[in-house]
Amino acid sequence: MAATIIDGKQIAAHVRAQVARDVAGLVAAGGRAPGLATVLVGEDPASAIYVGGKQRACREVGMEPFDRRLPAEASFEEVAEELERLNADRAVSGVLLQLPVPAHLDGPTLTAMISPDKDVDGLTPVNAGLLSLGRPGLRPCTPSGVMEMLAQTEVVLEGAEAVVVGRSNLFGKPMAQLLLAENATVTVCHSRTRDLRAVCARADVLIAAVGRPRLLTRDFVKPGAVVIDVGMNRLSPEEAGNKSGLVGDVDFAAASELASAITPVPGGVGPMTIAFLLRNTLDAARSQAGVQ
Ligand code: NAP
Repeated sequence: MAATIIDGKQIAAHVRAQVARDVAGLVAAGGRAPGLATVLVGEDPASAIYVGGKQRACREVGMEPFDRRLPAEASFEEVAEELERLNADRAVSGVLLQLPVPAHLDGPTLTAMISPDKDVDGLTPVNAGLLSLGRPGLRPCTPSGVMEMLAQTEVVLEGAEAVVVGRSNLFGKPMAQLLLAENATVTVCHSRTRDLRAVCARADVLIAAVGRPRLLTRDFVKPGAVVIDVGMNRLSPEEAGNKSGLVGDVDFAAASELASAITPVPGGVGPMTIAFLLRNTLDAARSQAGVQ
């Protein structure tokens, strides 16, 4: 039986519409519109596109965008000063340092300087620690988006075998923590995993975030599994077989013949990240204002 296609665009549109309603409610009650600051160092074209998308999305839900750009040769101190200014600015609810930063800068140390209550990417040591302790905090956007997709698809996580391929701080580790918090039995795989195929093939929920085009083929998918493909790999449109040239880490055509539900690339996990960035910014603004 063909798998249900989990429509990330639709689920993300829902989340964004809810955020827009909540922002309007906050403003109608006399509050300030939440503000989201993005900090981009250098002129990397892909990063500039991501930042532009975040700024646009922010305006669309009635939030105030703050677009800070520093030259590629900016020093560590200059970037740190900008982050400190944004931490102190009461109009700014959330601060995001666009990664990667140029090679002469230390991205993790700069990220750690963002005030934890404005850390809308959920990547500071404080928020990573809170997540790992199972305590409330701002969670990384993409794994939160995946949890929302699983919830909307009514996937039962309690007791399920969940396998996450990839152990990055950005995605794999927080994804594993969020699944664990929902009582899944979680295995995290990486480049040194022995027999990746066999581990993946026992997953009820298989989540791939590797960055290798179509690494997970048919044999990696247990019949009836739910497959979430986080990978975003750019090939030529001819190689990819689609207009965007984007493919995931899963061989979609083969896996969708076995899975019960699967996310496409593009149009799957991708749109969820910005939706959850907006939700985190709203949550940060509410908690800074003492509103539940
Ligand atoms: P990353 O930091 O490069 O991590 C990749 C992970 O995959 C590492 O843990 C690595 O293992 C593991 N890996 C590499 N080759 C492997 C192999 N052959 N077998 C098993 N594991 C292997 O990447 P990331 O930031 O987590 O992103 C992963 C993918 O997700 C990328 O395609 C990225 O573009 C995409 N992504 C998309 C979104 C979105 O849709 N919005 C957000 C985040 C990421 P080691 O740790 O052993 O090196």
